[in-house]
Amino acid sequence: PEVVSQRRLPSRQRFFGDLSQCLFDFVIQLLPTESEVQVKEDVRRLLERLIRTIEPSSRLLSFGSTANGFSLRNSDMDLCCLIDSDERLSASDLVTMLGDLLERETKFHVKPLPHARIPIVKLSLDPSPGLPLGIACDIGFENRLALENTRLLMCYAMIDPTRVRTLVLFLKVWSKRRKINSPYKGTLSSYGYVLLVIYFLVHVKNPPVLPNLQQMPPLRPISKEDTHVAGYNTWFFDDVELLRTRWHSENNDSVAELLVDFFRYFARDFSYNTGVASIRAGFLKKASKGWQNDLSSRFHDSRERNRLCIEDPFELDFNVGRCVSKDGIYTIRGEFMRASRILANRPERAVIALAELCA
Ligand code: ATP
Ligand code: MG
Repeated sequence: PEVVSQRRLPSRQRFFGDLSQCLFDFVIQLLPTESEVQVKEDVRRLLERLIRTIEPSSRLLSFGSTANGFSLRNSDMDLCCLIDSDERLSASDLVTMLGDLLERETKFHVKPLPHARIPIVKLSLDPSPGLPLGIACDIGFENRLALENTRLLMCYAMIDPTRVRTLVLFLKVWSKRRKINSPYKGTLSSYGYVLLVIYFLVHVKNPPVLPNLQQMPPLRPISKEDTHVAGYNTWFFDDVELLRTRWHSENNDSVAELLVDFFRYFARDFSYNTGVASIRAGFLKKASKGWQNDLSSRFHDSRERNRLCIEDPFELDFNVGRCVSKDGIYTIRGEFMRASRILANRPERAVIALAELCA
């Protein structure tokens, strides 16, 4: 009877139903295993114990995908060391010292980068039975904004876990398979793609799938000291439990419909030349932020920076897409068009469409 009723559905509805199911099935098998989660937590604890031999008051916290609900199997670990003491060493000294210590005391391959814009220690571990693909981990210091933006993304994921997580995880796999997820090679970071998805669900879809957590009225008066981190306002409505009782999306689109619309919007409708995608404020003009790519400028570098503009949710003067090069934006947009074209044909079998998308 299931099959018969499926057949009677109009083909458009049937396609979206099938594709949504395929998307769930596809991302579920790519989630981290329980043992991977456990090994990562063990690694975090071990590293925290070692760091405390240098700075007794330090805490090592997870951020990025391991902490925000958008983790795929074998994703890297982003760790941030916070030190609750006024007389602490500089980040670059800590990186050097921690690098030496970890090299002596652990089996990690260690690469300290004390002079990077954000000093970090890079670690990796060879494959083992519990971790067949090994582990990669970056440890930074005092990066409190990253902890806050991780929490913001986590809250968005919790509001509508099924649709938001499925979309984000699929786009992460897709962008990795299509090789457009390498900020060092001129394309966009995972963080950038996640911001594009949230921007789309908050500001492009009408009715919206998600509320704007940064613009909701606070429940009680808030003071500047409570909300500012490193000089930036990081306030957002973070009581997701309460929100679930007060806010309901009027948007009932399936995951598949949202994915198709997402690709179409970024293939065709988003104005890359003049626009900035901001999850805080919606569509902004590059000119209003001083982020024009001035083609007449002699300064090759500065105009390279603003091909794709994505405002960081808190660090408003920071373009998360600044790493995207001229070739990079061309490739990324080409990939959005390719994906849009594949899905617009509504192939007979959704599973084949997915395979082709990520081929
Ligand atoms: P993956 O699973 O692919 O590692 P991820 O969700 O961990 O994805 P990353 O791009 O590794 O995403 O970023 C990890 C975290 O680092 C983000 O959640 C964010 O807090 C911070 N971050 C990364 N890139 C930037 C950036 N350009 N600006 C500000 N913060 C960033
Ligand atoms: Mg990461």
